[in-house]
Amino acid sequence: MAGKKEIFIGTVGVGGENPVVIQSMTNTPARDVPGTLNQIRRLQQAGCELVRCALPEAGDLTAFKAIVAASALPVIADIHFDHRLALAAMEAGAAGIRINPGNIGSKRKVKEILDLAAERGVALRIGVNSGSLEKSCRHADKPLVERLTTSLVDHVRFCEDHGFFNLKLSIKTTSVRDTISAYQTIDKLLPYPLHLGLTEAGPFLPGTIKSTLALGNLLLQGIGDTIRVSLTADPVQEVLVAGEILKALGLRRENLEIISCPTCARSSVDLLGKIEEFQAKTAGFKPTRPLRVAIMGCEVNGPGEAGHADLGLAFSVSLGYLFKEGKIIGKYTPEKAVDELIALIKSMEKPDALL
Ligand code: SF4
Repeated sequence: MAGKKEIFIGTVGVGGENPVVIQSMTNTPARDVPGTLNQIRRLQQAGCELVRCALPEAGDLTAFKAIVAASALPVIADIHFDHRLALAAMEAGAAGIRINPGNIGSKRKVKEILDLAAERGVALRIGVNSGSLEKSCRHADKPLVERLTTSLVDHVRFCEDHGFFNLKLSIKTTSVRDTISAYQTIDKLLPYPLHLGLTEAGPFLPGTIKSTLALGNLLLQGIGDTIRVSLTADPVQEVLVAGEILKALGLRRENLEIISCPTCARSSVDLLGKIEEFQAKTAGFKPTRPLRVAIMGCEVNGPGEAGHADLGLAFSVSLGYLFKEGKIIGKYTPEKAVDELIALIKSMEKPDALL
């Protein structure tokens, strides 16, 4: 966010005045080029802007090169332990590298990475996390957050001492409170853009809640330049959750906002099915002006409860009522209602149409 140094991962600006960037990580096998490219395309369609791919061993380099060359998004190589993989990933065209210097082995090896990254203009993310702290920081008596921040600051100072400043930082733990505390500390100490995340957040529901609490809290404080919601799930879900966090905080403009009621005993429609039908039929459609669309479970209260929506649908047993600014303007069978709503939305895209 504003105030941090601006860096570029490929063509994507991070930090400075740039909006918060959504990032995810592929989970296909490193050698599966078509599968990985397909997953990257799905991530991009969901709103992902940067993608990270693990490069576990040298035998995966040919595939990695092919992925970088054909990827729909700038690719960051995720490297652990072997600095030669970081060097090879840069030679293969990686737009960014993520390392934890603590597990690279020696300062000389880290220096080799810095030298090539400087030569190629490749940004480096230094990511420390509670699961991969270097030995000297693992069993100390000091609190975890203090050990993590000390480790990260030491790594950053090493880079700076070698004239390398093209940095992005992350400091992740599995705890919401520790993660917030660690990022707050680093935000005050260092001028580099921050990549927010909670490590090993868990499966979809608990992972989403923990990530939303940690990332949302930090973003509200103006901390964070890229985010990854880490879930044990299809990475597309990570991107969708990250997008919703940014939208909920007003950090992403959403021209097509869907609101819906929780339903109650007055509802006799499969409302979730109707919402999913609407989402599927409007996937990839981006209205040119902000539009709030309500899909409500009953016609008695729906239009009123959704009075703040621009337009919407409310369902009775046998009809879908199309309404605009709280007033009913059409009645259709439930099977046709969603299509009629979408037709109205699209007609409003015409230059002379007024809301
Ligand atoms: Fe219940 Fe109707 Fe309100 Fe939905 S809109 S919560 S169905 S009263």
